[in-house]
Parts: sequence; structure tokens; C-alpha cells
Amino acid sequence: MLRKILALSFLCLILLLPANALAQPVPPELVALPPHVVQSGETLFSIAQRYGTDVTTLARLNHLSDPRHIYVGQQLSLVAEPAGVDLRTWDTHRLQMGESFSWLARRGGLAWETCAEANKVLNSGALLVGQQLLLPPTAAPTMLAVAPAQATPLLQALRHNVPFWEVLRLNPQPLYAGAGMLLPGEGAAPFLPYPLAALDLTPQPIVRGQTAIVALETVAPATCEVRYLDHVEPCYAQDPTHLFAFISLSPMLDPATYPVNLQVRSEGSEMALELPLVVSPGRFGYEVINVSSSRQHLMDPSLLQAEREKLDAIALIREPQRYWQVPLLYPVQAAISSYFGSRRSYGGSYNSYHSGVDFRACTGTPVRAPADGVVVLAAPLVVRGNAIMVDHGWGLVTGYWHLSKIDVTVGQWVSREEIIGRVGNTGLSTGSHLHWEMWVDGTPVNPLQWVEAFYPFPAPAVPPAPVAEQYDHGPQ
Ligand SMILES: [Zn+2]
Repeated sequence: MLRKILALSFLCLILLLPANALAQPVPPELVALPPHVVQSGETLFSIAQRYGTDVTTLARLNHLSDPRHIYVGQQLSLVAEPAGVDLRTWDTHRLQMGESFSWLARRGGLAWETCAEANKVLNSGALLVGQQLLLPPTAAPTMLAVAPAQATPLLQALRHNVPFWEVLRLNPQPLYAGAGMLLPGEGAAPFLPYPLAALDLTPQPIVRGQTAIVALETVAPATCEVRYLDHVEPCYAQDPTHLFAFISLSPMLDPATYPVNLQVRSEGSEMALELPLVVSPGRFGYEVINVSSSRQHLMDPSLLQAEREKLDAIALIREPQRYWQVPLLYPVQAAISSYFGSRRSYGGSYNSYHSGVDFRACTGTPVRAPADGVVVLAAPLVVRGNAIMVDHGWGLVTGYWHLSKIDVTVGQWVSREEIIGRVGNTGLSTGSHLHWEMWVDGTPVNPLQWVEAFYPFPAPAVPPAPVAEQYDHGPQ
């Protein structure tokens, strides 16, 4: 998959990789900016500054002949559809580190302004790694390279072994050292620090409560770890040059931009990068839970805490093998009665949230494993009732609460689709249902993200093999 390193420029290694190695054809979710309503004291200049754009762009978008003449209450459009292009023919692309908007636009033979309009981007300098962009289809595959010192089109053609006239046709602008240039051939990721060949942090922006993925490809065997919020997490190796790490975000996290620090080690050298991750608020419901008087005693904080401590050991599991594949299966075929992240009140303030997804189903309905894994908990708990937890590897653990029956034991290997238990109404429950919980890096995240093919993970590298002994936590 990784092609051979082709050439050394004076600036850096230019690595020739399929540009879409980590891209997938998913329709982009473009963020539509609402129009700006002009306030007293504002000028077009101050508005442009606020949105990271310039007066000319705003004037053009709003057909303003004189940028000085705006009035209080006027609605200014911040985005526009570019004229004369059919966006349906465009492809989605996730921005990788080292790629620039203007280069990508040039590959499709368009000005960057047109692509910026299509993507409703006002400030092309503020793009994020992992952000989805719509790009015009490229007629012929082209790769990106950096012009070294004293470069001429002829020298570049010879260096990359491509036809001279093709270099001239693709690069009509003057060449200078460090300039981006297009060459015929498969794509590349320029400007990436050694040993990175491709780097992706996606989705961007991400709704809190979801899982972001750091995916990297290296030119030499490497290991890495990520640091974010109070987490220090390992990268998991698909193979020695394809690494993945997960960023799990609590649904209670304040929406903001958070740094994700990536440390990569390869052949004795170490490299660190900080990537911004934009966390958006998302939408969450509000629920008041009325606990019947017969189960009120289960609300005792000491009981909740004792049970929490039992589960804390499981939250530390980081199995380096991956057993799962996306999309995961739904554990039951039933209607969802409560979504992940809903703000919950048990008679007081909304100071807790729903840490899983509830499915309304009759007692006795079979519950199936959504992916292969090893059972790490199978025991009656006070609050969660009869509970099962399954480790699927790479820090992904799922939980099943309130069961009427447990059909598995700790250490048991379970296959995707295998029945592990039955829906019930045990523990702190207000009716027969399955509570499905998912942890990534020990943090509860939205499982519904994982029942979609939300990222093109390659098939698990090693065929899963039952490994019981190392998971033997004993009866809980
Ligand atoms: Zn629930």
C-alpha cells in the first residue's frame, strides 16, 4: 500500500502515497453560517475581521457596490454557492496534515476562492486536519511536491521522471523554492514531518459524547501515544506503519477547541505534534426519571459509589488486539427509548447524564454481542442489575445492564451476533429495557456512532483467538 519513497528535496522527504489512503466517500456535513445582522458601530471591516475573512470577499458575497454603505439591521450573507459548478460531481476529501486548500483546488483546475465558496469556508488558513472538504474531481491523478532550490520545470520533470510538457501544463505559474507544484501521478502528502506519511484526525468538528480517531501512516515502523484532556492513551497498531488512537469525549465536556498531542517514536527518534480538535455542543434531551418507591433505596450514593469502583478496573482495559469491525451490530432489534447523553434528573437538578442507549424490549428478548470480544464482567450488580461487559480490544468495551438472564461467564470468548443474555428489568430500572453502554478509553461514548461505518478501519490484522486467562478478574 505504501509506495516507495521517490525523491529527496532539500526541504523534506516527499512521500508518494495514495492521497485518498485515509479518505472515504461520505457526504460532508457542511456547517452553514447564519447571516450576520449588522449591529450599531460595526463596519464591514470589523465584521470581516470577526469571521476571519476580508472586506472584498464580504462585499462580493453580498453584492455591495460600496463597502462603506451598510446599515444597522442589514443581513449579510457569509456564504455563497459558487456559480457555474455542479457540486454533485465533487468528491469529499478529509484534509490531511501538510495539504493546503489552494493546492487541492488547483488539482481540480479551480481557483481556491471557488472551492472556499463551495465549502462555505471564509478563512482558508483556519482549516483543520480531518475536516471534510468538497473538491472538484481531478481529471487525471496528480501529486503534490515542493519545488527545491534552483528548480526549473525541466529539472523537476527529470527528477520525478515525468513528461516535461505535463509539468509545464500543470504549473503555469513561476516556480520558486518551497512553492507547491503539481506533478502527474498518484497523490502525495507534502510537508509532513518524518516519519509521518499521512495523518488524520476526524471527524472535525466533533459532537461531544462521540469518539474521534487519530489515524497515521508512517514510512518506518513506529509507535505513538496521544494526550488529550486528562488522558494519556496508547496508539494501536494495525501493522507497524498504520497506527490508530481514539479520543473519547464526555457529553458533558464544554464545547471548545482542545489540543490533541501526538507523540510518535520511530527508530530511536521522537516527534511531537499538537492538533486542534473542535468539539461542538450537539443536542441532548432532558429527562426526569421517577424511581418507584420500592427501588428508591438503590439511589443511595454509597451504593452508586461502591458499584462505580467495581467498574473502574474495567475502565483501564487497553487490549492491544482488535476484535471489532465497524459497523457494530445493534445488540437488540428494538425501538430506542432514551438516547446517549440525555441530561437526567432523578428528582433534583439535571446533574447527571444518560451514559448509554436504552432499547425498549420485552423481558427475555435475546441480547447479542455487537462484535467479537471477551467477557470481562458477568454479575448481578445493585444499581445496574444483571450486567455484562465485553472487551472488544483497542480500548473498546461494551456494557449491558438490567438483564433478566446472563448467558456468559467472565473470560468467555463471544462472537459477533452470539446471544450473551436476555433483556430484563433488574437494578435501578423503570421498566423492561436494555441499557447499552460503550466505553472508549474508559469514557462512556455514544454507541450509535459505532453502528455506522463511520471510519474505514481496515479488517482486524490478526484473526481473533480466544484468550481467556488474562481477563480473569474473578467473580465480581
Ligand atoms: Zn439506560
